[in-house]
Amino acid sequence: MIHALLATVILSQTYSRSRQVELDTTSQCLWWKENTTIVYRINSDGNAETPGDTEFTAIQRAFGTWQTELAGCASLTLQEGPRTSSRQATYDSTVDPPAANENIILFRQRRCAGVAPNGDACWSDGSCGSKYDCWQYTEGAIAITTTSFSPRNAQVFDSDIELNTPSFIFTTVDSPPCVRGSETVNCIATDVQNTMTHEVGHLLGLAHINDAASTMNPRAVTGELTKRVLDPGSKKFVCDVYPKGQASKTCFIPKLGIESGKLAKTGCTEVPGLTMLALGAWLSRRRKR
Ligand SMILES: [Zn+2]
Repeated sequence: MIHALLATVILSQTYSRSRQVELDTTSQCLWWKENTTIVYRINSDGNAETPGDTEFTAIQRAFGTWQTELAGCASLTLQEGPRTSSRQATYDSTVDPPAANENIILFRQRRCAGVAPNGDACWSDGSCGSKYDCWQYTEGAIAITTTSFSPRNAQVFDSDIELNTPSFIFTTVDSPPCVRGSETVNCIATDVQNTMTHEVGHLLGLAHINDAASTMNPRAVTGELTKRVLDPGSKKFVCDVYPKGQASKTCFIPKLGIESGKLAKTGCTEVPGLTMLALGAWLSRRRKR
């Protein structure tokens, strides 16, 4: 019994860090500089179909859950800034200092297909979403976090979160779970706080982990709320990587001289230059109108 319990504890305290090249353990881990106050700004449009301002509250709660952990043991701070009118989930290399880029959270309300013209250059460089204010990623992903970092040492400067409203009904109620195929905003379909707690994990530098009990498990089913609560592994990440009073932990010594001073984004999808970590839904669900 003791052994079994111990094994469970150890398993549940694991986490995986995001890297410059996803799943490439020879590439560097992403990290925010110690003592950074990460200011996040929610797009003022919110989500059209979520009642009242409940989506804003849900997003604030998700950040608050992480902030509670950070306050206990870590040097980083998450802080809400004023709502923003920007719908540019992009990194602007002309902003000085780089970390002055806005970290934006927004709901995309339509798909890019049919909005962005065929042949537009945005399809090849991954800029359609911000250019035409649309969801440019796979239909099955609930949300995408795009993180921009230094190619020299993997320090993060900017992280933006987009939510996929064309494919998912985002809800904020606590009960009951929706029946699949009959989702409305009056039951739990795709919970905003559940989704956002996972995405803020990406923002902080966490990758997916194949553990059903983890906030960073990449799958979410209709009616799920479990990711609202941080698992022990995700909590441990915060204290391990961003210890209060110390430098943030990198994975190894930075490779100096490689593309020195130039900013780049690399990633895990077919779109070059971006790190995109999806809270994927392998259950393909289309909204019913
Ligand atoms: Zn994810």
